[in-house]
Amino acid sequence: MNWIEKELEFLADASLERSLRTSSPVSEAPGYTVREERRLFNLSSNDYLGLSGHPAIIEAMREKLLTEGAGSGASRLVTGNRPPYHRLEEELAYWQNYEAALVFANGYMANSGVIAALVGRGDVVFSDQWNHASIVDGISLSRAEHARYRHKDMPHLRALLHKYRDKRRKLIVTDAVFSMDGDQAPLRELVALKREYGAMLMVDEAHSGGIYGKHGEGLCHELAIQNDVDIHMGTFSKSFGVYGAYICGSRTLIRWLVNKARPLIYSTALPPAVVAGVSEALVVVQGEHWRREKLFALSMLFRSLLGASGFTIGEGDSPIVPLIIGDNDMALRFSGALEDEGIAAAAIRPPTVPDGTARIRFSLSAAHTEKELRDAAARIRNIGLGLGMVKP
Ligand SMILES: *Cc1c(COP(=O)(O)O)cnc(C)c1O
Repeated sequence: MNWIEKELEFLADASLERSLRTSSPVSEAPGYTVREERRLFNLSSNDYLGLSGHPAIIEAMREKLLTEGAGSGASRLVTGNRPPYHRLEEELAYWQNYEAALVFANGYMANSGVIAALVGRGDVVFSDQWNHASIVDGISLSRAEHARYRHKDMPHLRALLHKYRDKRRKLIVTDAVFSMDGDQAPLRELVALKREYGAMLMVDEAHSGGIYGKHGEGLCHELAIQNDVDIHMGTFSKSFGVYGAYICGSRTLIRWLVNKARPLIYSTALPPAVVAGVSEALVVVQGEHWRREKLFALSMLFRSLLGASGFTIGEGDSPIVPLIIGDNDMALRFSGALEDEGIAAAAIRPPTVPDGTARIRFSLSAAHTEKELRDAAARIRNIGLGLGMVKP
């Protein structure tokens, strides 16, 4: 086992070692987190709409906990398929305007299980190089050919579609909004290419569900292309503020997944209280439009403040705002300085992002206020000045 210590030393020397630290929420101050007894302004959570502390959601979970118990006790195909599932899946299909929906324990399991259920040896998956790790792992599990196209590069995708045109089944898969840059996939072009080459199209709305679309349906609805997306995936762990994930598609697709998606078959169903909490979160996501509006206003403000200070930030309107630094060690120093200034934001380093693009990934929430963000932006500017990254 000695090799592990050596490898760990190598990681630590390259400023690439990760470690677990405990954070606890602050119930009376939803935009904050407490780490090592210090209260930090939380710019690193995916609770975009600020729902993790929503009283109606918590109450729905509490009620169900008292009547249905703590755990579900079995896989959904055995005795774990409790009543809240059916209701939630009907509501999801209606919200997304698909024939059917299927809930999974989390996004990682949904992506890996669904891809492996749809393709296998002799097939090919066309996947954006910056797609989420759960998609990449699903492709490995499936044993299909992995045709990775350069980020959002449609001519490259077209060339690969042509090259693999004789494969049995073809699946194009993409994040709708990319998790580390907050930029959007070229969904309209993807739809055109999928049609031209007779491929299936799967879109992961983990960072766009709840945020885009009139009722928070996601980016596909916002662009009115959802009818061309064969497999729509979303999570409940980000904008919904709870936990879990879902797939929407045709009745046939869902029937197939119930038979073939191994993470659904061989893993215990979500606790019923979680499923009930998600149902309540779905009501809030659809109804409380002000959360989306506030989030976009905050995102625009924060982006313009950082840009005016001279930082390089990602483009777009997403609440994911990457501040690109480049060097791994510098990114760690920046994130340490942020913590000293009372701000929690993660340094994201390779292999999560490409070499030479280490960054601070800020993520905003409707739980934040304009004043808090202005204060944070001023402190971030000072750190940039101190590290010689921006000019006075
Ligand atoms: C977070 C994320 C997932 C995984 O979802 P979990 O529910 O956290 O397992 C999948 N895809 C993308 C793009 C994500 O950002």
